[in-house]
Amino acid sequence: MLAYTYIEKGCFELLDKPKPKLQSEYDAIVKVTLSSICTSDLHIKHGSVPRAVPGITVGHEMVGVVERVGSAVKKVKPGDRVTVNVETFCGTCFFCRNGFVNNCTDPDGGWALGCRIDGGQAEYVRVPHANQGLNKIPPSVTDEQALFVGDVLATGFWAARISDIKQEDTVLIIGAGPTGICTLLCALLKKPRRIIVCEKDNSRLEFVQKHYPEVLVTKPEAVQEVIKKHSEHGGADVVLEVAGTKDTFRLAWQCARPNATVTIVALYDEAQSLPLPDMYGKNLTFKTGGVDGCECDVILKLIAEGRIDTLPLITHTYPLARIDEAYDLFENKRDQVMKVAVRSSVGL
Ligand SMILES: [Zn+2]
Ligand SMILES: [Zn+2]
Repeated sequence: MLAYTYIEKGCFELLDKPKPKLQSEYDAIVKVTLSSICTSDLHIKHGSVPRAVPGITVGHEMVGVVERVGSAVKKVKPGDRVTVNVETFCGTCFFCRNGFVNNCTDPDGGWALGCRIDGGQAEYVRVPHANQGLNKIPPSVTDEQALFVGDVLATGFWAARISDIKQEDTVLIIGAGPTGICTLLCALLKKPRRIIVCEKDNSRLEFVQKHYPEVLVTKPEAVQEVIKKHSEHGGADVVLEVAGTKDTFRLAWQCARPNATVTIVALYDEAQSLPLPDMYGKNLTFKTGGVDGCECDVILKLIAEGRIDTLPLITHTYPLARIDEAYDLFENKRDQVMKVAVRSSVGL
């Protein structure tokens, strides 16, 4: 089967590999229909994910059809259409029992798919702990609608949940890339008084204005002024930092009102400094990333009810055979790309 493979730093290649087999009674084999490319895949390509193993098939955001299951897999059966979770988790350890599945202590726990074990930019993928890692797609929801459930949308949902957004709040979201938009969609479900999105890229600002006209948008240069004008207490009640740069990290705490919650969703390439003397007395609460992606069934239900729609994020579609071109487009942010769907099914 075709599988997009991490060869070495700077190099991914589409190789012909054997189809995966069940290795445990908890495994499932999923025939991938659609996968997507995530910024984390680019981090692997650039060598900034040290635990990524050369030779693995990349890709951790995908949907497909269950082909085979191990004897202990009860949640899904062959023929079911499913989303695949970016995280592998056992469901029984201390962290899993408390919903902190990102820190599952299983040897395969956490982000393993497409990083430490073979992922889904391929025709088939083996999913360990399939009772936890797979969620059935409701009949009324298409593969395209469900494509981001296991990764970027799970991240947005988790970020909005841990930020304790209230209806009287002014919420600032920094960054309007795919994860920022997913965070916005999930923050909108909390119905805060106001949401402001800060983004430096014009086309992404236009994207937000076009699809979510009720949201205020601003460039980073003006964000502090805009926040002061549109918040009751001198700053945002909740800030979600989804951009991941030194400047946006600083803006996140600067734009927060005293006693606000600042949720760091982004993954940074380098350490950030917290200038504690400058923020002394602001009494901020910081919450930091990695998604606990254990609410995919809830998210799928919200999609079925029409309350979350990520279809506008799919700006481009490529067949797996042309995945090199899809990466080139995504990596170089050409043609106002947001997300690329990669079709794995033979014949499509
Ligand atoms: Zn990802
Ligand atoms: Zn666990």
